[in-house]
Amino acid sequence: MTTRLDIVAYTVPKLTDYSTDSLTQAFEDTRRAFRDEQSAISSEADWKAFRDRWMARKSGILTQINEQLKAAPKEAKKELGQHLNELKRFIDEVTNAWREYVEVIPRRVAISGESVDISLPGVRRPIGAEHPVTKTRNEIVSVFQRLGYSVAEGPVVETDYYNFEALNFPPNHPARDTQDTLFIAGQHSKPQRERLLLRTHTSPVQIRTMEKMRPPIRIVIPGTVHRNDPPDASHSPMFHQIEGLAVDTNITFGDLKGTLDHAMKALFGSNVKTHFRPSFFPFTEPSAELYVTCFICGGSGKRGSDPCRPCKQTGWIEVLGCGMVDPNVFEFVKDNGYDPKKVSGFAFGAGIDRLALLKYGVDDLQYFFQGDVRFLRQFG
Ligand SMILES: [Zn+2]
Repeated sequence: MTTRLDIVAYTVPKLTDYSTDSLTQAFEDTRRAFRDEQSAISSEADWKAFRDRWMARKSGILTQINEQLKAAPKEAKKELGQHLNELKRFIDEVTNAWREYVEVIPRRVAISGESVDISLPGVRRPIGAEHPVTKTRNEIVSVFQRLGYSVAEGPVVETDYYNFEALNFPPNHPARDTQDTLFIAGQHSKPQRERLLLRTHTSPVQIRTMEKMRPPIRIVIPGTVHRNDPPDASHSPMFHQIEGLAVDTNITFGDLKGTLDHAMKALFGSNVKTHFRPSFFPFTEPSAELYVTCFICGGSGKRGSDPCRPCKQTGWIEVLGCGMVDPNVFEFVKDNGYDPKKVSGFAFGAGIDRLALLKYGVDDLQYFFQGDVRFLRQFG
């Protein structure tokens, strides 16, 4: 079917004369053509065709004019650019008004019920699915829930006291550096421990929970944390952590190893092996990093004849940090039954997003946070 739109369709002339008069005339012609085509719109299909013809990024009219700008002689570029900007503003205004008229208003009318035929089937809304990060978080939480752990949560905007001091970060510890921590503005008149910041880890919730609950406790703490890292394939200023804390009498490093070994097998399959390497965290002593056999290459370091990238060919992947709770941390909650001479405990913390990246073989963290349905649909 030929619409009226086709009849008046405008094609971009090839510019050869770059004089002021000629440019003004050419852009006036374009604007007139735009108005003519617009006045020929009589259906939603027309509108869409019109919109695509003018605005489509790949070969729309605006893009074609932009191409001409690139090809123009240097001295004409400035003037041509001004004309083009003006044209864009004009087209934006008109199309926004039209979008409202063609796309938004009919929807509002339908919602307000003025012209609803109730004998028609309803609009079927697509059912969403769990985001891969949420899915991974829920899986980890449920592994620990089956072991008798409960879920604890806490504020994202934290005080320096809970985020650092009570977790045994000495005043000059590098993690306190403003490079890592996003501070809330205007806090300098307060004493340091009361200053607000965006929590850099979920660990403050350990202290908050121990203040409220007497031992024994077994908790997992999922949540968002923030650090001053520019976004790239493996960093984001906002990301997700999950950590766990178990405190009781006679908790040993053996309990830590047994618990985490079980959890890793539950998460990644009963074939995975675990491996602990010594590490350092201010709030645990001793501390370790937990490695599991690479669940992509099965520990061989190779995928067929290619090297396995996720484990850097080592066959091992670091999944979390852990350790025995430092007695200094218990000192901060001693009055609630956490006498370091009487109780002991272990803690661990992992980045949920990183585990989700590994688990689903995604190579860029940013995909998780861009909200692009085409990406997310794969996990539905
Ligand atoms: Zn591997």
